[in-house]
Amino acid sequence: MAEAQIKAWHEYKHDILLLENGVASSAEALGCPVNYYDDKAPTVVAPIIHNYKDVDKLKVPDPYNTFPLNELLKATRIVVKEIGDKAFIVGRADQGAFSLASALRGYQNLLMDVALGQDLEKIHKLLSFCNEVIKRYALAQLEMGAHSTSIGDLGTEITSPQIARDFIFPYAKELFSVIHNKKKPAALHMCGNSTPIVADMVATGADIIELDHKTDMQAAKIAARGKAAILGVLDPVMLLKGTLKDVEESAKECIKILGPGGGFILGPGCALPADTPAQNIHMLIECSHKYGHY
Ligand SMILES: [Zn+2]
Repeated sequence: MAEAQIKAWHEYKHDILLLENGVASSAEALGCPVNYYDDKAPTVVAPIIHNYKDVDKLKVPDPYNTFPLNELLKATRIVVKEIGDKAFIVGRADQGAFSLASALRGYQNLLMDVALGQDLEKIHKLLSFCNEVIKRYALAQLEMGAHSTSIGDLGTEITSPQIARDFIFPYAKELFSVIHNKKKPAALHMCGNSTPIVADMVATGADIIELDHKTDMQAAKIAARGKAAILGVLDPVMLLKGTLKDVEESAKECIKILGPGGGFILGPGCALPADTPAQNIHMLIECSHKYGHY
C-alpha cells in the first residue's frame, strides 16, 4: 500500500493522500471473514453477530498487533516518513460506527433491526463498542504521523436521514471530539446524495465533509460555509469514462460554485475505479492549479 501510494503521488502530485484499504479492515480485525481480490478492495464475507449477546464477547483490538490494522498503520508510517512533509496525509480510520456495526451484524439484519425498532438499547451498545474500536484505530493513525484521520459511514442511499441522525451522527460527533482533543482535523465521508443531511454532517464537527456528485452544491456551500471544508464532488464515473473536456468542464463548474470564500478541496466525490485513465486524473490536478486560485 505504501509503495502504491508513494508511486501514485510521484505520478500525480496531489495535495492529499487518503490511506485506506476499502471498508473491511476493522471488521476483519474483529474476526469477520474477509475476501481479498487482485484488483479491488477486500470485502466482508459474513457477519459475526448473530445474536446481540455476541457483542459481549467482542474486545477492542489493539491496532498495533491485530491484522490488518497493524499493516495499514505500517503503511501510514512509511508514507508519512517518505512524503509527509510534502503532502497532507489522511490515515482513514476505516469506517464509522454504523457502517462497522452493519458489517458485524449483516447490513440487512441491522437495517431491519433499526426499522423494526427492536433491541434499540442493544443496537446502541453495539454502536458504542464499534466507536471505541474506531477511536483506538483513529488515534493510532495520528500516532503514526497522519495529519488527519477520517471515517466513512452509510449515506442516504442506504439509510434515511432520520436513521442517520439517530444512529450515525451522534457517534461521529463523539469520535471527532476525541480527534479534536489531539488538535487534529477529521473528515467525514458519506456516499450518495447528501443534500438532506449536509447540515447534520457539518454539525458533527467534521473539519472536512466529503460529498459525492449527487449532492446539491449550492445547498452544501450554504451549510458548510465558515464551518467545514467540502471535499469532492466530481463524479467518479465521469472521471472513468469522460473526455478531458468533460473533466475540465466539471472541475470548473465545481470550483465556480464551491470555491468562492474558500473551504473547498477539489477531488472525486467517491473512490476512483481502478481503471480510471491517468490522463483524466492529470487533468483534474491541472484544473485545480489553473482555476483553483482566488
Ligand atoms: Zn463514497
